[in-house]
Amino acid sequence: MSTVLIENVHIAPVVGPEIASGYLHVEGDRIAALGAGPAPEADGAVRIDGTGCLATPGLVNTHHHLYQWASQGLAQDATLFEWLTALYQVWAAMDAEVVAGAAGAGLGHLALSGCTTSSDHHYIFPSGRGDLFAAEIEAARRVGIRFHPARGSMDRGRSQGGLPPDVVVERLDDILEATAEAVDTYHDPSFSSMLRVAVAPCSPFSVSADLMVETAALARSKGVRLHTHLAETLDEEKHCLEQVGQRPVAYMEKLGWLGPDVWFAHAVHLSDDDIDVFAQTGTGSAHCPSSNGRLGAGIARVSEMLRRGANVGLGVDGSASAELTSLSGEMRQALLFQRARYGPAALTARQALQIATLGGARNLGRQEELGSLEAGKLADIALWRTGAFASAVDDPVCALVFGTRQPELARLLVGGRTVVEDDELRTVAQDELGRAGAEAHRRLVRLAEERGFTAGREVGR
Ligand SMILES: [Zn+2]
Repeated sequence: MSTVLIENVHIAPVVGPEIASGYLHVEGDRIAALGAGPAPEADGAVRIDGTGCLATPGLVNTHHHLYQWASQGLAQDATLFEWLTALYQVWAAMDAEVVAGAAGAGLGHLALSGCTTSSDHHYIFPSGRGDLFAAEIEAARRVGIRFHPARGSMDRGRSQGGLPPDVVVERLDDILEATAEAVDTYHDPSFSSMLRVAVAPCSPFSVSADLMVETAALARSKGVRLHTHLAETLDEEKHCLEQVGQRPVAYMEKLGWLGPDVWFAHAVHLSDDDIDVFAQTGTGSAHCPSSNGRLGAGIARVSEMLRRGANVGLGVDGSASAELTSLSGEMRQALLFQRARYGPAALTARQALQIATLGGARNLGRQEELGSLEAGKLADIALWRTGAFASAVDDPVCALVFGTRQPELARLLVGGRTVVEDDELRTVAQDELGRAGAEAHRRLVRLAEERGFTAGREVGR
């Protein structure tokens, strides 16, 4: 079993007091110990000098659509419903090759921003275009971060009163069969798991009530988690009131979609009662401030949710609505959005770090294994170099969260294994990953044009 000692480092463990100068002792894939002062002697240990560095838990991303790496920069000035309407037909053209290139680039980009665990919500499966779910799982294995792909779905096309065109939706029975197969094939519930599968119908405006109920039953019978978009925009609220006569959270309650095994993306437009329901039922949410800002969706009530005991994690959301967004940058966005709405005491740097780590781990049901630096937890550690320009700020957590430019990522460990060193991916050729992401974009545009769709390619004004 390998031993790694990170020495002379400022540790922000998220749970427990900060240590201004201490060590982290990693044995195999777990944290064996941490403490103040010099590291213990250990034969054969790899020693990493953390002088001038801040150690935090690896960041946890709880909402993404990796395939969207291939459709960035389109429909730049649209609302959510306008943007979706422009892009559904483009996405209908994707195949496994597009997903492979997009997912590799997206996950590599995330790792470079300190992310050690990411979920993904993939909900479009055009028939006859290869195994899209397998393609993103293989990309995560290559990059080397923990992966929680959610088998998404849509079954309510335009002919059934939904928003998406019928060409991108699937039949309910086919969805249930494919979702069960994805869980059976890939889900690993073990403590050290690198791969867990969730069940994730897309949104109230693209999914039938039957699909929501049936997928919840399926997920619970298999012991996996439930995820969907909720309360993202006022257009969605209006749609729900018109179509089902209820606001989004009440509708979820009716469908059995609240509980400690559920986390929602966005949750922007919540009432006071909705927040209390989240807190009482243990329902989590993924706050995606850049995407909410980009689409003009609104500002989630994160600081109120935290105060009332509802769990919040962070998400970068799909790259088509949050181009090139880094997960470390979302800590800053979350902090600034809350302060812009509620004043300067609304969210502290340490609260932003907490939602990016432990909050995310709770959303994914992994708070026993991930999200804080504690003995016995998995050794998912980000080591930020807060020297040079950043050393003008005495508080390293402030230096990490407040600036637009992330401090250099000296090291990113996932289960004790180095994934990033000195801002470079070490598991996979970084340049190749970037090129493959750009090729995925060109391929998707070409495939869409062959089908007669160029929607959304106008440049911003
Ligand atoms: Zn999303």
